[in-house]
Amino acid sequence: MQFEKLRLSGFKSFVEPAELRIERGLTGVVGPNGCGKSNLLEAIRWVMGESSPKSLRGGGMEDVIFAGTGTRPARDFAEVVLTARGSLADNDSDRELEVTRRIERGAGSAYRINGRDVRAKDVALVFADAATGAHSPALVSQGRIAAVIAAKPAERRQMLEEAAGIAGLHVRRRDAEAK
Ligand code: ATP
Ligand code: MG
Repeated sequence: MQFEKLRLSGFKSFVEPAELRIERGLTGVVGPNGCGKSNLLEAIRWVMGESSPKSLRGGGMEDVIFAGTGTRPARDFAEVVLTARGSLADNDSDRELEVTRRIERGAGSAYRINGRDVRAKDVALVFADAATGAHSPALVSQGRIAAVIAAKPAERRQMLEEAAGIAGLHVRRRDAEAK
């Protein structure tokens, strides 16, 4: 799956509609501290279905909505649109996918794929098939590298096993040995 474009409106510090083109190859985002670099990565994770406000550095999910500043009023919704080339199912050929997530104060999140209302689960499936998704080890948050280096060996092993997708095997082996 190839990400092509990210559009944000009212998401965290991106109060005015903003568009980021993601070209093939390496994309770098540079800017001073606090300008919103990490917010962009969180927008990608959010539109793919992240359901934990904590992993978006918030206390509640509505904290992703622009909260206002001294000179600008708060917004009452946030919307992120991710455009990608990918498939909706295993037997589907690659096509243009436009995935939208929108949250309104007091009304929760709603998702759309190519303009059609869908469930959170449908969005999770699109990205799970592409081995990405909100919990993909491909997304490494700020501070996580330092956490890996500082971890005790047993903790580090657990992180690597989770990243490799084999953490569940130990649970099943212990379960089998106990029988
Ligand atoms: P650094 O270089 O320090 O890692 P960064 O470019 O990654 O910085 P971010 O952490 O993405 O910066 O952006 C932080 C900014 O986003 C802060 O100024 C914070 O106030 C703002 N912000 C976060 N959530 C909201 C919100 N809901 N409404 C308005 N502003 C927000
Ligand atoms: Mg940052």
